[in-house]
Amino acid sequence: MRVEEKWQAVKKQIEQASLKSNHPVTDVTVIAVTKYVTNERAQEAIDAGIIHLGENRPEGLLEKQQSIIGQAVWHYIGTMQTRKVKDVIDHVDYLHSLDRISLAKEIQKRAASPVNCFVQVNVSGEESKQGLFQENAISFIKEIAGYDKVRVVGLMTMAPNTKDQKVLRQCFKNLKALQVEIQNQHFEHAPCTELSMGMSNDFEIAIEEGATFIRVGTALVGE
Ligand SMILES: *Cc1c(COP(=O)(O)O)cnc(C)c1O
Repeated sequence: MRVEEKWQAVKKQIEQASLKSNHPVTDVTVIAVTKYVTNERAQEAIDAGIIHLGENRPEGLLEKQQSIIGQAVWHYIGTMQTRKVKDVIDHVDYLHSLDRISLAKEIQKRAASPVNCFVQVNVSGEESKQGLFQENAISFIKEIAGYDKVRVVGLMTMAPNTKDQKVLRQCFKNLKALQVEIQNQHFEHAPCTELSMGMSNDFEIAIEEGATFIRVGTALVGE
């Protein structure tokens, strides 16, 4: 199926989820995660009008950027190795995986201008998952207050790999509660108004629970 067709279907799902949650559809930014697909397929997404693209490896990001024709906003959604920061940080519009001080330090050292970052939180507590534990997120954010190249625009999580809707919903609810708690502290460097949550299998629930960025690969650009 062409990306354009898949996009129409995803849009309908977003509309329905937004209706249920009383959020305007326009509050949700859709990121097409192109990490598994060709440059041509990513171009199809751009041509369909999806301008936000997500990659999870430095090489993939740089390659897609060279190939894409047209305006795009670039999201880095995977683990960022500290030694790779210098190669890609100035090519990234949003980093979804800020999860440690050493990474913040490296961004501070290497970035030419402030980087929009999501602090990645391991809400489910699974050992296999990246991210800070919920209880450490606020102290982490306080600790990076002096880093003027790191701007915390929001929180990001990956839900557990389960079909259990209750578990997924609770995970998103927890992230939302933490985001509101941080937003209410009015940190200058961490407005923390955004929530990056929801992938192909769970983005409708994520939207119902307040997602403002969803990261959709398979459902949007999968072959
Ligand atoms: C791969 C990936 C996605 C997209 O996954 P799909 O299930 O294909 O939609 C979203 N977020 C992150 C962090 C990913 O690594």
